[in-house]
Amino acid sequence: MSLQFPKNIVVFAAHPDDTEIFTGGMLRLLRNKGWEITIVTLTAGGMGGIGTSEAETIALRKTEAAAAAALLDAEYVCLDGRDGYLFDTAELRIKAIDVLRRKKAGVVIGHLPMDYHADHRAASAIVDAAAMLATLPNVPSSYPPLEVTPLFYHSSTLGLTDPLGNKISPPHFFVNITEVTEFKMKMLACHQSQIELMRVMHKMDDFFGEVQKQDLAWGKVAGVPRAEAYWQHLGGGFQKTPLLQEELKDKIISGGKL
Ligand SMILES: [Zn+2]
Repeated sequence: MSLQFPKNIVVFAAHPDDTEIFTGGMLRLLRNKGWEITIVTLTAGGMGGIGTSEAETIALRKTEAAAAAALLDAEYVCLDGRDGYLFDTAELRIKAIDVLRRKKAGVVIGHLPMDYHADHRAASAIVDAAAMLATLPNVPSSYPPLEVTPLFYHSSTLGLTDPLGNKISPPHFFVNITEVTEFKMKMLACHQSQIELMRVMHKMDDFFGEVQKQDLAWGKVAGVPRAEAYWQHLGGGFQKTPLLQEELKDKIISGGKL
């Protein structure tokens, strides 16, 4: 049976700015091909404020995330989990399923399960479960079940290692984002509040420059100037159709050894 996956991609991230950092380039390329894009954050990043309260930071960061999404004509949705205290709960799974169903998602992107950040790991688990449950009629969702389980992909973590310093499993493929770098930086520039935060939290003086270093590092592995890295979730219960790889075939470099 040949399955049809709608060209609707829903990207889930723990915090505002993660989507732009890890997937901004590929999303631009998909948008250019007419894909519908939804950016979901599990939290509004309320801990990511310097000199603003949690509530003020939430309001500010939602505005920043919505502005970045608008550059892609994408809808921005926040599921209102709490930054720094993100847990895999029934409530968040159902909220995630609601989005997948309402948007008739064909492809879902989530963090890697072995990401460096605890919130990212929780987000990855929530998205994994939500995608798996999206077709099941007994789920207490406000929307009708999807006909087909969406294809599930993982975006990159920061750096090329897991939390123990071991090299992560090599990406299944890279996307050459060289021609859309400027656009990706424009999306990232919507998150002005994070420049000061990165300076204080990570002693990072040039947040946007650091993001570019990541793209350059993956580019070096892929053999192009700049790249983003992706893995397709190949666990039981998920279809293995290489839809994104086919859709972007002129920009795809197969993964290999790190
Ligand atoms: Zn994050």
